[in-house]
Amino acid sequence: MNYALLDRGDRLSRALSEEFHSLAKAKGFSVNEIAPDIVVSIGGDGTLLQAFHRFKNQLEQVSFIGIHTGHLGFYADWKKDELSELLNLMGSSEPRKVVYPLLHIEITTPTGKTEFLALNEFTLKSVDGTLVAALHINDEPFEMFRGDGIVISTPSGSTGYNKSLGGAVIHPSLEALQIAEIASINNRVYRTLGSSVILPKHHHCDIIPDPEEELFIGIDHLVMQMSGVSSITCRVADSKITFARYRPFPFWNRVREAFIGSV
Ligand code: NAP
Repeated sequence: MNYALLDRGDRLSRALSEEFHSLAKAKGFSVNEIAPDIVVSIGGDGTLLQAFHRFKNQLEQVSFIGIHTGHLGFYADWKKDELSELLNLMGSSEPRKVVYPLLHIEITTPTGKTEFLALNEFTLKSVDGTLVAALHINDEPFEMFRGDGIVISTPSGSTGYNKSLGGAVIHPSLEALQIAEIASINNRVYRTLGSSVILPKHHHCDIIPDPEEELFIGIDHLVMQMSGVSSITCRVADSKITFARYRPFPFWNRVREAFIGSV
């Protein structure tokens, strides 16, 4: 088995990386940072986001495994003291392959169209403070947004920024995207639905900002500044991320452990 490993860079994650490499070597696994079968992320859910963006052009070939240095995460199934158990299972059994939907984003500027993939979400804010933009669903005008911003999340990203905005938590087996508002201003001119909206795979939405507006565009943990944006189209991506599951950890158990605790 070929694997690539990415860690958060803190002392504990680096030490676990060393331990993983020596256990993996003893099992006959080899490191391949270019074309791995398995991508191992050691740190947190944020580290797995980084791993996803490093290998997002090889999603057909790679499966991801997350090891959390703290509590268990949404993308990180294994804890720091479970490396031997994980490596034993990797050496002796076939994992269940679990796929999660992704978000496809296409941004149009005078220089052309640029495409992005997000594992958690796309975030749009204005550099000047208040964002003004029209939202269309399936090419029909839906609402005129004015407020702090718009977040469009995947089902697995629904427990991230989306949840802080009051959005629904969506099971990642549903191929959908969710549009959530960040502090919309509502009056007679600018009127929004006020609740989050969930679109199925065969629908899409367009955000049409003022092209003069300087924007902050967030793709997961990455933020860039863009101007001249005439439209942004979001839809459920054709590609998916694959996780290698060596033991069951149901999504609703993750949600309960992260947000509710023991009942
Ligand atoms: P960060 O600001 O360092 O950490 C954000 C927190 O979100 C971390 O605790 C991270 O978990 C957790 N997280 C990441 N993906 C998650 C998911 N799908 N479900 C539940 N929690 C999740 O940033 P980061 O670590 O680079 O992560 C970027 C993400 O932060 C964004 O994609 C966005 O979802 C989230 N975010 C949330 C807010 C908010 O809630 N107000 C604001 C901005 C961004 P770990 O500790 O395990 O890494």
